[in-house]
Amino acid sequence: MVTQGQGLCQKPQGIIRAATFTRVADLLNFVGVAYEHIPDLDEAPGTFGLKVPRAFAERMRRADPDDPLLRQVLPRRAEHQSIAGYSEDPVADRSAERVPGLLVKYAGRALVVTTGACAIHCRYCFRRHFQYPSLGTHLEAILAAIAADQSLNEVILSGGDPLMLSDDRLAELIGRLSQIRQLKRLRIHSRVPVVWPERLNNRLAQILSGGRLTGILVIHANHPHELSETVCATLRDWRTLGLTLLNQSVLLKGVNDQIATLAELSERLFACGVLPYYLHALDRVAGSAHFAVEDTQAQSLIAGLRARLPGYLVPRLVREHPRAPAKQPFI
Ligand SMILES: *Cc1c(COP(=O)(O)O)cnc(C)c1O
Ligand code: SF4
Repeated sequence: MVTQGQGLCQKPQGIIRAATFTRVADLLNFVGVAYEHIPDLDEAPGTFGLKVPRAFAERMRRADPDDPLLRQVLPRRAEHQSIAGYSEDPVADRSAERVPGLLVKYAGRALVVTTGACAIHCRYCFRRHFQYPSLGTHLEAILAAIAADQSLNEVILSGGDPLMLSDDRLAELIGRLSQIRQLKRLRIHSRVPVVWPERLNNRLAQILSGGRLTGILVIHANHPHELSETVCATLRDWRTLGLTLLNQSVLLKGVNDQIATLAELSERLFACGVLPYYLHALDRVAGSAHFAVEDTQAQSLIAGLRARLPGYLVPRLVREHPRAPAKQPFI
């Protein structure tokens, strides 16, 4: 069943709902894939369940069990295997927490965990085992900690997904942040623009682009098919408001581990007004090993992209090391 969301109505806790698939059977039925074509399927994935907005499911190829979008969201039994080197907090985010919900790992930049909610559940996600505090109870402590640190000039709203917050809550949060004098930039890390384009209304565009802080929106697309014409048209509009648009992807086996796919993704992003930023090596989070791509293959993919594309369309291949001062390029 598709849970019919209330469009852009607000839920009491400020979370907005989309029309979303939450049951494996409904999604497979929608895309016309039979159970027996997915031998490793986990029909009851537990707390990190299936969640796929209808707009994203519509971009999957029909009757294709290997569709690269489907692969990102289908729970597999392999997720339960315990594999050496894969853990629940592979990037040590918990130890970078300054106050609950505020991570300061890199010079000048503070990352605020705004909500644990996401519009989609990506099976490779490194945050899948986290329990998030709710922002409401920690907001004042977070703002005070940012205000007290003169070295910060950029705040990143992350999550979960910050665009799961209602427009009102975002406006309030961004309003408060813009009163902190040393801040210059506001960055949003969100998969919502790609997976749930109905969320991108004019007021939201205004909130992100119209304040004192310079707005940067970092979207998350892994495959060119994710960027539908609707998504693209909105992104191009938003760019004209002065928002800088970047994309980050995760390198995923069976999804985007081909030179041609990555090249097409970069071309498509550019056509939508977005530049590729990072291509992340998979964080070794428990349950994600079936998406891992060998380092040597990752490096040859990037070399292949370099040989095909202008430099500005080649994403930086990076890996996160728990104690490094930045995400580390490994080519
Ligand atoms: C990735 C990340 C950032 C941003 O890093 P950039 O290289 O500036 O994109 C900031 N804080 C944390 C905790 C991060 O994980
Ligand atoms: S945090 Fe991002 S990658 Fe992780 S499940 Fe949410 S949308 Fe997907």
